[in-house]
Amino acid sequence: MQEQLTLALSKGRIYKDTLPLLEAADIIPSEDPSKSRKLIIPTNHDHIRLLIVRATDAPTYVSHGAADIGVAGKDVLMEAPSDNLYELLDLKIAQCKLMVAGPVEEKPHGHRLKIATKYLNSARAYYAQKGEQVDLIKLYGSMEIAPLIDLADRIVDLVDTGNTLKANGLQPLEHIADISSRLIVNEHAYKTKFEQINAIVEKFKTAIK
Ligand code: AMP
Repeated sequence: MQEQLTLALSKGRIYKDTLPLLEAADIIPSEDPSKSRKLIIPTNHDHIRLLIVRATDAPTYVSHGAADIGVAGKDVLMEAPSDNLYELLDLKIAQCKLMVAGPVEEKPHGHRLKIATKYLNSARAYYAQKGEQVDLIKLYGSMEIAPLIDLADRIVDLVDTGNTLKANGLQPLEHIADISSRLIVNEHAYKTKFEQINAIVEKFKTAIK
């Protein structure tokens, strides 16, 4: 009898890009979460199930052992580091960059830079390491609006193609970090369910190559 194994991941980009890796490990979800309201999705294995959670919550489920393994963006892991988990693999999916962006035509400003971001801790660490004093403003989304209506001078946000910035008269200015999704594993589960988890990790590794 195999032990129950629970994997936490978010729907959307991360789910879509993780699906081929799951298939390579012979894990086939019984439903598509984008078409279902179910948040616990069974798979073709009785003992393996998926938890569909908010992207920012995946590390919390894994950290507390409510899920054994999970998929989380490096942006989320950097912003709120969790205890009791290992970051085992770079899955090379959902790749983008954490960047500082600002208006294409930046207005002169006689004050400390105001930076709007959802990534308060990452932005704080970045400017501290640069030795630059800035005022940080926490937003939960649509950061691109902030410089357009003078709430902030610049933003710190994820950039993929750059199309969102461009559509709002903004441009990337400074690179903070390369971002991709990571396979995270609860420390205790990695010991007690090592063989099961390691088998999945090895199949993922081969599929990533
Ligand atoms: P783009 O227009 O392609 O540069 O995409 C930028 C928008 O998509 C921003 O709103 C980002 O927050 C979001 N985004 C881009 N890549 C990712 C990612 N890997 N994970 C989550 N959000 C992303």
